Amino acid sequence: MKVLPLYNVLVLPHSNIYFQGQTFQALTNGGVYEKDNLTILVLKKEQSRAEMDENSFYPIGVEAKVEEINPQGYVVVKTGERVDINQVALNEEKEIFVDTTVRPDIDDLDQDEAHMKLQKIKSDLKELAGRFQGGSFIQSYIDQYTSIEEAASVLSAWLTITNEERYDVLKEDSKKARFEKIEKIIYEYTEVTKVATDAKASQQEDYQKLYREQALKKQIDYLQKELDEMHPEQVSDVRKFELKIQESGMNEDARKEATKVVNRLKNDNGNSGETGMLYDYLDFVTSLSWKKEKARKINLDEAEKILDADHFGLKKVKERIIQQIAVMNLRKKQSGSILLFVGAPGTGKTSIGRSIAKALHRKYVRVSLGGVRDEADIRGHRRTYIGAMPGRIMDGIQKSGVSNPVMVLDEVDKLSSSYNGDPAAALLEVLDPEQNNTFTDHYMNVPYDLSDVMFICTANTLDTIPEPLLNRMEVIQFQGYTPTEKFEIAKRHLLPKSLEAVGLKPEQLEVKDEAIEKMISDFTREAGVRGLKKRLDTLARIAAVDVTRDPEKKVTVEPEMLRKYLDMPALPHTKVKDEAKPGVVTGLAWTSVGGEILYIESLFTKGNGKLTITGKLGDVMKESVEIALSLVKSMFPDKAKLFDKNDLHIHVPDGSTPKDGPSAGITLTTAIASLVTGNAVSPHIAMTGEVTLEGAVNAIGGLPEKLMAAQRAGVTKVFIPKDNVDDLLDVADEVKKNLEIIPVSSVEEVLEQTGVKEKKPELRAV
Ligand code: ADP
Repeated sequence: MKVLPLYNVLVLPHSNIYFQGQTFQALTNGGVYEKDNLTILVLKKEQSRAEMDENSFYPIGVEAKVEEINPQGYVVVKTGERVDINQVALNEEKEIFVDTTVRPDIDDLDQDEAHMKLQKIKSDLKELAGRFQGGSFIQSYIDQYTSIEEAASVLSAWLTITNEERYDVLKEDSKKARFEKIEKIIYEYTEVTKVATDAKASQQEDYQKLYREQALKKQIDYLQKELDEMHPEQVSDVRKFELKIQESGMNEDARKEATKVVNRLKNDNGNSGETGMLYDYLDFVTSLSWKKEKARKINLDEAEKILDADHFGLKKVKERIIQQIAVMNLRKKQSGSILLFVGAPGTGKTSIGRSIAKALHRKYVRVSLGGVRDEADIRGHRRTYIGAMPGRIMDGIQKSGVSNPVMVLDEVDKLSSSYNGDPAAALLEVLDPEQNNTFTDHYMNVPYDLSDVMFICTANTLDTIPEPLLNRMEVIQFQGYTPTEKFEIAKRHLLPKSLEAVGLKPEQLEVKDEAIEKMISDFTREAGVRGLKKRLDTLARIAAVDVTRDPEKKVTVEPEMLRKYLDMPALPHTKVKDEAKPGVVTGLAWTSVGGEILYIESLFTKGNGKLTITGKLGDVMKESVEIALSLVKSMFPDKAKLFDKNDLHIHVPDGSTPKDGPSAGITLTTAIASLVTGNAVSPHIAMTGEVTLEGAVNAIGGLPEKLMAAQRAGVTKVFIPKDNVDDLLDVADEVKKNLEIIPVSSVEEVLEQTGVKEKKPELRAV
């Protein structure tokens, strides 16, 4: 039996197929004769006979017979039953042999209904034919159709459906379903043709409207494909965007907006100045993830392990994070309270954010808000501006590639508002769970759901964070590390990382423990470990050079080599001075980079009672000076003359934050008192506390950081306000062990215990 492979022909059982032109030539030259039995196979893609092999065909074909070879130039082939192709073989000459079995139809077609529908189709086709010249001839032809298959076969050549769609009809077992498919194809055809002939086709029935719409879309698609082929370089990007939009899973608003932009791009032809902007926009919105990720249950033990593996210490912080994960598990949510990590630089705020993402098996993205002054930085620029961009939040989402990253918003304390709007207000919207499921970036101009994003903010200080924003967040303090913690962090994490970064093996560089300790005490002055990390990186680089010169070399760093290797002198002021001097007292300050010690110096010079204050002092600090002065004058009335005969000069080196002003009160008072009495206070004694005119010592903030700084500097004894005793719970044990901490409630106590004022002899009963 001869085999006839066909491509892009509507092959249907029990109907006629007409071949003309080239196919006619091919058939007759190929030795096909009238009454020949054939098996028709459907090709999967357009192929010449030389390219065909066993896999070129779809698995269902049809039996056929050559009915007529008309010398006027057409062949009529009559098809019979559909067949399963069990096996195909091709020989050297590319003759095709098949083994087939009949594949029966499922006879579920209601004949009466089919008959009615066929009549309708015929009348539609006739109406259509009437619009063409010579239509009446075709009309009489249409009258003779006895099956829908016949109608479809005749139209085959004009149908704009694909090869697969054609095969799709053949492979349908159910006669009813097949009928409906053909019916639909014919409807589409007639509708498209009607549109093309500019018919005033206004069919009322719903299904016809639907068909019409589909037909139009198909026609557009078809034309689009043709265009693509004509200008592959121009159109293909637009098509790619269209496909991406279809696949992205965008919400309805976004799809509409994106489609609008695609249409503008289509009409734009690349000639207007807008093209780049349109491209950028589509590129951005189609590369965003629009899919919801499933909330997954996190194993708490495993999460704890991951957090511990990446960071030493930070026990409280980790506990709080685990609590958060547990809550998220229970509530099957991907986000929860917004955590705000506050602490000095280098205390691990950002990097623990990364670990949290790892523990949650989620993507991590960091968005820096430092120096953001413009609302548009958060919320994006409207696209009417040249160079408009999405805001940093959406930019971060795009970078993460998912809709539920762990997003670290770095430096929320460095936001500032300007005439370009208030970025903090915009950020508030981002973080508000009530609103952020429809966050609308001005650039995108369509809502995006941020509710699955886990936000973590970091800041150095709370002072500059606007109240409403702060209220949204839960503050977690990073207090900085003790020297012992720093040592452990250096050994376990920083040094191995530095080595890895330069490609050294651990045995190639040994930094002696004493050297690490010295680095911590003399070559860094910080609450975090950023400086320490830099120093270690420097050592690793030096070792890398040595090892490159001599691969056998092992570099050992001893403490005394640090000066040379690090190429820097030991930092001044890291330790308290040894010499005590009347008028000079050690204070404790809190700054956004952690705690620090500072010396308050006072001096009398010949004069007439003038007061000079130097150093970086805020207004609050100046008031503290006045209070201290009045206090001392009232406590030492016999020294009052000194203030008349001299000018008093007070100097506070190194600034601290304005908020810190009052907490230097006790230090100022003690310094002035020490000056007037001539009793020096040991620099190893430090103090912090606000004073009142009555001589009471009031509570201050930042105690843990201050005590940490005191211990770091070698202070041995610290006076703190009694009201701050509760805060000692937050202070590392190591710090408490190394410091004698004395809570006080009055200036009197401090002056007596430092030896500035002699103790009143106790009254004895006579
Ligand atoms: P921050 O965000 O607080 O300024 P980073 O997270 O950038 O600090 O930390 C600075 C560096 O110090 C990072 O390389 C980080 O891995 C490291 N680091 C900080 N704290 C720890 C710690 N507890 N354990 C291990 N490494 C730490």
